[in-house]
Amino acid sequence: MSEEPTSGRTRQLPVFHCPYCGDEDLTPHEDQGWRCSACLRAFSVRLIATGVQE
Ligand SMILES: [Zn+2]
Repeated sequence: MSEEPTSGRTRQLPVFHCPYCGDEDLTPHEDQGWRCSACLRAFSVRLIATGVQE
């Protein structure tokens, strides 16, 4: 996974790809997840750690 620098317009949401098929066509799903329009999978994104390094 690599972070691409956002050039030009600011997007409301961070660049994110479907973890299953890699498509970028994601739409909000029931307030807590995303639905991929390409493979029709719905999934949630959960933060499991912060950027603190030990
Ligand atoms: Zn997908």
